[in-house]
Order: sequence, then structure tokens, then C-alpha cells
Amino acid sequence: MKICIFLGAGASAAENLPIQNELFSNYFKYILPNDKDSKMNKELRIFFKDTFDIDVLEDNLDKVKFPTFEEVIGILDMAEQRRESFKNFGTETYDNKNGSINILRQYLILLTANSINNPPKSSHKYHELLIKNLIKENLLLDTTFISVNYDIHIDNNLSKLYDTYKIPLMLDYGVDLANFYHKNTSWKKPEGDCIKLYKIHGSLNWLYCPICSSLTLTPYEGGVMRILNNIDEARCLNCGERTIPIIVPPTYFKNMSNVHLSNVWIKAEKALRQADLLIFCGYSFPDADIHIKYLLKRVQTSREKYSLKIMVFNNHENKTISALKKEEDRYKRFLGKKVIFTRLSFQDFAQDPMGFITKASK
Ligand SMILES: [Zn+2]
Repeated sequence: MKICIFLGAGASAAENLPIQNELFSNYFKYILPNDKDSKMNKELRIFFKDTFDIDVLEDNLDKVKFPTFEEVIGILDMAEQRRESFKNFGTETYDNKNGSINILRQYLILLTANSINNPPKSSHKYHELLIKNLIKENLLLDTTFISVNYDIHIDNNLSKLYDTYKIPLMLDYGVDLANFYHKNTSWKKPEGDCIKLYKIHGSLNWLYCPICSSLTLTPYEGGVMRILNNIDEARCLNCGERTIPIIVPPTYFKNMSNVHLSNVWIKAEKALRQADLLIFCGYSFPDADIHIKYLLKRVQTSREKYSLKIMVFNNHENKTISALKKEEDRYKRFLGKKVIFTRLSFQDFAQDPMGFITKASK
């Protein structure tokens, strides 16, 4: 039996990571004031004042309603696509009076990285529990993880198996890393029994080199933070040039053209075609994720074996019945009425994966 576990934002929220609509308030409340004169923070402040009339330093941020991350990235992407500008921020940088939309976009991505990179109080207990239980039931090798999260909770818990517990299972991201060819790195090319983790929106520990197209992994560390804190440590392992993050935020206008990310998508599609059961954990199936809907529809309509069974775990403490009902409708209208929509959470699934998997396969 082959299983795909799809990890959405709710799985990370279970470990106390800020969720999408807390990213801005978190950053502006706790992080920006410590370094308000950096170039990045100055530009972010101007942008939010000009565009949303929010002064991130002077306003009472507990009362401010921030736009969503998708909305902000969405309008910037659209301006770039149309080669148009916002006041004080242009797509063409012929005039250095203006900030650049492209750089502003990078800043917003680094802001996200900063907010989700080891925030205080974050844990990893449910990811760890899930993996332990999958090992216990002898299911881990038949499991492929597909994650839309940039944080590295699942990554770290999977790589620990090999590095700390000496269990001969290697983590395979489905990408060709510069680390495999470099002698001074501990990260070896996966061989033998591998656990697959496909991060279809990128990862905090991936550094992409736009010069030689290599991808450098920073094991156990959100290496993207180096771009923010000390750019000279964010160098490509292959050619030594400066790197940029691969973090694709959820918007309608996503750019999936990065070659490494394309490979990950192809592998995720293949894994889904071979799977018997797909389990969504902490994923609300948002309208913005049309790329994921496209992927799932392609898989559903071109399978060799019987149809893919689908199970959903996306409840949390404060969710209302009406929100749950809407979510269930969203899943079923798109993926079919056979979707098993549990009113349980990622945490519940992590506690007894085998129990639920057995129920689903009946
Ligand atoms: Zn390079």
C-alpha cells in the first residue's frame, strides 16, 4: 500500500508556527523594531504606508488589519507581469529614487522566512510522533511526503533518523543538490532506502544559485536566513556566487519555472499516481492554490489502478462547524464525494496513522 501525506500550513501551525495571516503582524511587531534602519525594513515601512496606509512603527499593530500575504505578493506579481508600477516602487529601476518591485518582493519572502524560522515556543512534537508511528507500523518506506510548507520541521525529523538514530533511511528531496558533489559536506546523495519529501513550494534550507543553477542545501538550518543576516555565508557550494531563496508564496500568479521546483512537481505527480491513499493534513484547499488543483485533477483522471482514496484531517480547536462544512464542500465539489472528510486534526492523525489508514482502505 502506497501512501502520500500532504502537509499544509495547519501541520506547521500545530507546532506553533505563525499562520499565513499572522506573518505580517508577527514580523512588524517583534522583528522589525530591532533593526528598523536596515534597507529592507525602511523599504517595507514605506511600502505599507504608501500602499495600505499602515505605519508599521507608529500604528497600534494590535488593531491594524493587515492585507493577506497572497494579496500583497499578488499585486506585486501583477505589476511585474504588466510592467507597471506603484507609487515609489517601479518594475524598471532606471530611476534610483524609486524602490524596485522585484527587490520588494524578495524582502517580503525574507520576511516570511524570518517569521517562520524557529519562532519562540515552536515545537516539533507532532511531526516526530507521526514519523515514529509510521516506523512502528512499518509504513514509512511506503510513504511519500508532499509539503507546501517552507519550514523544516518534517525535514529535520526525517534526517535525524539517519544522522542521530542511525536508521539506514535517507531523506530524498527529489532534487539534485550541489552538496552531493562537494567533498566538505555531510549531506550525501540518497541511496538505498529513501524517504521521499517533495516540497512543492520550496524550502527555507534551499539556496538557489542564479549563476550556475545549482541548489545548495543547508542541513538542519534555515539557510535562507543567511541571505538576510550575512549574505557572504549564503554562497553557492558549486561556484561560490551569492544565492537566492526558492520560496514560492501562495498566489494566483505563482512562478513555477525554476528547474529544481519543476522536477519536484513531476516527482510529486508520479508519487500521487502510484499512491493508493492520499492524506491531507492541515490543508484547507484554498482557492489560490490552482496549481495544486491542476496537479490533483491530472492525477485523478489518468490513473492506471483504481481511484485514489482521499482522507482529510484539518480541524483545530477553534474552528466553527460552518467553517468545517464549507471546507468539506470545497474538497468534495472538486475531488468528488468519496473524499473521507474527518472532523479531526493533524495531531489526531499523528497519534494513530495506522488506525486511520486501515479504516480508509476498507
Ligand atoms: Zn553557483
